[in-house]
This record gives sequence, structure tokens and C-alpha cells, in this order.
Amino acid sequence: MEATAKTPSGVTAVLVPEELNRRMETRDTSRYEKREDGKLYCKECGSVILGAKVAHPIWDGPFPMSGSGKCFYEEVPYCPKCEEKPSFHGEPIVPKGSHHNP
Ligand SMILES: [Zn+2]
Repeated sequence: MEATAKTPSGVTAVLVPEELNRRMETRDTSRYEKREDGKLYCKECGSVILGAKVAHPIWDGPFPMSGSGKCFYEEVPYCPKCEEKPSFHGEPIVPKGSHHNP
């Protein structure tokens, strides 16, 4: 379930914690292969797969876009040649009970 939240700057996609877990479990890694050296390689071009850090701000406060200021950091694999580097700025996470996920 993709969720959105209305913020003063418009509608933003947000993640409920369950959705984040599901995305991590179902991430498609079939285009990568693990070799004997333990590294992941791209099946398309043979590049070593890199990990991009994505920060998800946690909006767990009672007001719009509010929270403790904490971030959840996710390591997203990507091929530096075939794929675009994921943005460092991930969707905010809205735990149950917060303003955006009552
Ligand atoms: Zn590649």
C-alpha cells in the first residue's frame, strides 16, 4: 500500500513501516549475481554493484511533517552503469499513530 501525505509543500509519498519492510524483502536482485569473491556483480555489464545510502526521515510526531529528527538509513544496491543512483532523500516513514498515519 503506497501512502501519501498532504504537507504544506504538496502531496508527498510516505512509507508506513510495513511497506518499507515489504519493499526490502521483495527487492528485485535477479539482475545481480554473487561471485566467489563475495561481491555482487551486474549481469548486464559486469560492474560491481554499489550500495547507495538512502535516508528516510521519520515523521513520528503529532503534527504535519514533525518527528524526532531521526532518520532510517537504507542501503540500496544499484549498478553504477545501468541504473541511476538512488536519491539520498527517501520517502518519509510515518509510523502508526503519527499525524500522517493515525
Ligand atoms: Zn550494469
